[in-house]
Amino acid sequence: MTSAVNSDAQVEKLITGILATTRDGEADKFAAWKKPSDDIRRLVRHDYVRSLRRNLPYRELKTLVDAFTLAMPSFNREPVGMLSEERLSGWASELGLHFKAAPYAGDDGLALRGFYVTRSHGMLKRPLIYVNTAHHPLAVCSTFCHEVGHHMSAELLGEQNELVHFFFDADYAAHLEDPCELAADVMVSFAAYPEPIARKIFAVPWRWGLVARAKDLTEAALAEVVGHLKRFYGFDLMERIPAPQKLNYLSGMIHFAKLRWALLAEYDI
Ligand SMILES: [Zn+2]
Repeated sequence: MTSAVNSDAQVEKLITGILATTRDGEADKFAAWKKPSDDIRRLVRHDYVRSLRRNLPYRELKTLVDAFTLAMPSFNREPVGMLSEERLSGWASELGLHFKAAPYAGDDGLALRGFYVTRSHGMLKRPLIYVNTAHHPLAVCSTFCHEVGHHMSAELLGEQNELVHFFFDADYAAHLEDPCELAADVMVSFAAYPEPIARKIFAVPWRWGLVARAKDLTEAALAEVVGHLKRFYGFDLMERIPAPQKLNYLSGMIHFAKLRWALLAEYDI
């Protein structure tokens, strides 16, 4: 009988194995990562309110937000901020998770943000979160929140349709059609734009109460989003990020901001 995977060495081996097969197994995501402008066009046009209604009922959303708030009392009241690897590791261990933070940069490795492995995979005793630290620290933190979102969904809503949930910095539009990915992304949006800030940014001129307008992203609103990320996180897309990555990060910024706006418009949260 195979014994449960529990030691650090066994977990390392599992992660190395997953990373080694990612390239071939997820070739379409790597291809999408190389064409971020296609994704941006889809995101800008997409009606986020419709996706929320279809894929994330309020009761499930509330369950996840309550669980996050239990783990982090200032959740959706203050920005989660850029937590150090030690803090992330501490949070992971409080949640009973294996945690690995390591860079994975070579050969288009930046396409990958991280992954969540359910406990059913390879006899893992505890679920596992891996974050790719080759990314900007803000991206690393948001990857962590996304993966914790998967974990909470798996624990509380029983959603474990895949053994490994990969998070690529590409094809965010696909997340909008996948209830699991959408729920995980919603947690990132709350972490970046807690309610008081969301109400401020997404007030006029977006008029977030008007559902019909939820597919618009005005230049003024995007400027607000960029300003918020700079003020709170020192994250400056134009200055700090290497050129090839800018468009990928921009698509993420548009995605999480539109999602936050839609949450306010649809669920007033
Ligand atoms: Zn995911």
